[in-house]
Amino acid sequence: MAKTESIFDDVDALRRSILVALLIFTTAFGAAFAVLNYFHANYEAMVGEIAMGSFALVLVPVIRRTPHLVRWSFVYLVLFDLTMMLILATPQSAPSVFAWVLLIPILSHMLLGRALGGGVSVVFLVIAFLIYYGRFSDSALNGNPRALLNVAGVALCIFGFSFVYETSRSRAENALKRQALSDPLTGLGNRAFLGLRFAEEKARWERHGTPCAMLLLDIDFFKKINDSHGHEAGDTALKAMSALLVENLRPNDDVVRYGGEEFCLLLSHATPHDARQAAEKLRRLIATSSFEDAGRALSFTASIGVATLPEDGTDLQALLGAADKRLYAAKVAGRNRVVWE
Ligand code: GH3
Ligand code: MG
Ligand code: MG
Repeated sequence: MAKTESIFDDVDALRRSILVALLIFTTAFGAAFAVLNYFHANYEAMVGEIAMGSFALVLVPVIRRTPHLVRWSFVYLVLFDLTMMLILATPQSAPSVFAWVLLIPILSHMLLGRALGGGVSVVFLVIAFLIYYGRFSDSALNGNPRALLNVAGVALCIFGFSFVYETSRSRAENALKRQALSDPLTGLGNRAFLGLRFAEEKARWERHGTPCAMLLLDIDFFKKINDSHGHEAGDTALKAMSALLVENLRPNDDVVRYGGEEFCLLLSHATPHDARQAAEKLRRLIATSSFEDAGRALSFTASIGVATLPEDGTDLQALLGAADKRLYAAKVAGRNRVVWE
C-alpha cells in the first residue's frame, strides 16, 4: 500500500519540483531582464518581467502545498506565455527572444500532460509565430523564407518531441500503475488496490454517512485441488472463481485477490443485512457451480467472513481483522458457510 502511494506521489512530486524550479528561474531571470530593459528604456517589457517575477516568488510556497497542482500550473503557464508574447511584441525586443518561446512546449507537456499541455503549446506557438512574422518579415536578415522556416521548423520539432515524449512517459506510468495494482494471474486488483478503493469508501462514509461492507472469502480445501489435479488446475480454479465473483458484483462493488486463494469483496452502499444476503448468495452459487479444467469438472466450496463499516470499525485494518476472525470461525464451524458476528 505504502509502495503504491509512493508511485502516485512520485509523478506529482516531479511536477511540483519542476514548477518550483520554473518559478525560481522566472524570478531570477525576470529581475535580471527587468534591469536590462530599464537601461534599454523598454519599460513595457520591464513592467511585465517585474510583475511575472514577483508573482512567481509569491507562488512558491503555494505550489509546495497545493492539492490543485494542474490548475495552478495552467494559470501560471498561461501568464508566463502571455508575458513572453507581450515581450516578443514590444518593438525594442530582439528576434532572439523567440528562443524563450521554445520552452513553451517542453514546460507545458511536463506540467500539464499531453492533452492540455499540447493544446496550450499549439495556441501559444501559433500566436508567437504570428507576432514574430508580423515584426520581422520585413527584415532582410530575419524575414527571408529560410530564416522564417528555421524558426517555425525548430518550434515544430520541439513541439513534436515533447508531445511524443510525454505520450510515452504517461503510457509507461499507466502501465506501471496497472501492474502495481493488479494480480497477474486473475487480473483482479491486489491489496494495494484494496487500500485505494477502501479509502474512497471511507471518504464516502465520512462525507455522506454511506455504509459499506467487506467480505473475506477463502476457498475450502484448496490445497486438495492442487494436490489431486496439479497446480495448473488450481490456477484455473482461481481464474474461474475470479470470473464468477466479477460477474456477480454490482457496478460499484469491487473484488480483489487478497492472498493465494483468498478474495476480498468491497460492497459499496451495503448495510449489514445486504452484506449477509450477498455473502450467502455467493456461497450458494460457488457451492453449486463447477469449473471446467482439461475436460474435468472441478467443484469446491468457500467460507466467508463478513464485516461492515461502521459497525466493525472505520479503518481498513479493523474491518480486515473482523472479517478474518469470522472467516476463521466459519472454517472451524465446518466450512462452506458465512459468519457475520
Ligand atoms: P482451508 O479450507 O482451511 O482454507 O484449506 P486450504 O487447503 O484451502 O488452505 P491452505 O492455506 O492449507 O492452502 C492454500 C493453498 O493454496 C496452498 C497453496 O499452495 C495454494 N495456492 C496459493 N496460491 C496459489 C496459486 O496462485 N495457484 C495455485 N494453484 N495454488 C495456490
Ligand atoms: Mg482455503
Ligand atoms: Mg487461505
